[in-house]
Amino acid sequence: MENKPVLGKLIIKGKIVLETGLHIGGTDTGIAIGGLDNPIVRNPLNNQPYIPGSSLKGKMRALFERIQNKKLKSIDKEGKIKRHECSDPNCEVCRLYGSVDKDGKNLPSRLIFRDSYLDEESKEMLENMETDMPYSEIKSENAINRITAQADPRNIERIPKGVKFDFEIIYTNENKDHFKEDIESLITSMRLLEDDYLGGGGSRGNGKIRFEIKEVEYRSKDFYTENKESKKLEVDGGIEELSNKIVGIIKD
Ligand SMILES: [Zn+2]
Repeated sequence: MENKPVLGKLIIKGKIVLETGLHIGGTDTGIAIGGLDNPIVRNPLNNQPYIPGSSLKGKMRALFERIQNKKLKSIDKEGKIKRHECSDPNCEVCRLYGSVDKDGKNLPSRLIFRDSYLDEESKEMLENMETDMPYSEIKSENAINRITAQADPRNIERIPKGVKFDFEIIYTNENKDHFKEDIESLITSMRLLEDDYLGGGGSRGNGKIRFEIKEVEYRSKDFYTENKESKKLEVDGGIEELSNKIVGIIKD
């Protein structure tokens, strides 16, 4: 396989702001806690909720695949999980989000999504609040079973509205001819997510988020090899104007 040159890395940091409660399901430990049947994912070291990078990446990829109208295929045996994957090095989705091909023509993801942890302010806020569970609330949903018409009450654990997480997304620049379009694809994915939802129960009010951009930095190859300075961008929070600004960062 051909080696991929690294021309530089773009690092975007900021906050994910919860505009409604967020439920990202954790693994069922088999311990029923107060009748809680839908626990959220938590960091086992400090019990704090977090947003796995894989959840953010998976959702943004899925939304971007749909707007690009890409062909989907099953990636599990049951055929429940569908996504687009191909080995075309020019495919807007696969070159950015990666793909695994049976013929060994893997496209490594150009995007890295770090896990997002509670920011300091939110951590303190939640610690001083009387919440149903540590750092979270329980939302009771009285769903009606559509077949039996019986009430089917369930408890969904959510991280409350207003909480902020620190996020970090890193893009590896491998091809200067792709840079502009890749950044536009990334920003499109972020904007789509703002008008969609993260995690579970989105159609019932969960998972509306907003990105607040705090820092955008481009580290070209010589940042790493020769200690050259990186380039930082003035940012004002929103993502709308971001792609033009970022594309300008490597023009000199
Ligand atoms: Zn593809």
